Amino acid sequence: MKPRFSKKDFEQIYEWTSEDSPLACDCGQLCNGICCSDTDAYGIYLLPGEESMFTREEDWLEWETQDSDDPGFPDSWEEPVYFLSCNGNCDRSKRPMQCRTYPVAPHITTDGRFILVLETLETSYRCPLIEDPRYLESFSEQWLHNLYRSWAMLLNDPLIYDLVMMDSDYRRACKQEILPAYPKNK
Ligand code: SF4
Ligand code: SF4
Repeated sequence: MKPRFSKKDFEQIYEWTSEDSPLACDCGQLCNGICCSDTDAYGIYLLPGEESMFTREEDWLEWETQDSDDPGFPDSWEEPVYFLSCNGNCDRSKRPMQCRTYPVAPHITTDGRFILVLETLETSYRCPLIEDPRYLESFSEQWLHNLYRSWAMLLNDPLIYDLVMMDSDYRRACKQEILPAYPKNK
């Protein structure tokens, strides 16, 4: 199965998610931008089709290709998976969807609803916004709304849906605490 979304679609999504920080201020001031400084340890996975947004000439990125048969990727994925390392100083307008989404994550509930939750991924650093869920009250409604509509669109690609479902099932299997971020009433 091929990725459903083209460069034009991702351009639309990048426009919707152009706002940098979930807070009114730059959240990097709370932690000295730690999630952009520890990228050697984690790197960034692109979504299927998202590679169309890059020329591969970007001097702030290094590319690696991983096999979609490796554990950790949905069974439906057949194409190579792109894994990037950045130098911590990107062109913000080109930052990948993974960076635009953190510190929340798309999640599908047991009754099939799509919501955004606080990210549950374990990292070597501590994001203040995840450590103290009271920050959720201060998240920009516009930031959450734009992220929600972007992921609602992305979920129309079965490959991306399968990834989000796999991550959601993992949260349930590990009994991770699921803290809804948006919509607020779900
Ligand atoms: S670690 Fe959290 S608070 Fe710090 S820059 Fe990243 S998202 Fe913002
Ligand atoms: S691509 Fe940009 S936003 Fe993403 S981790 Fe690197 S410096 Fe941070």
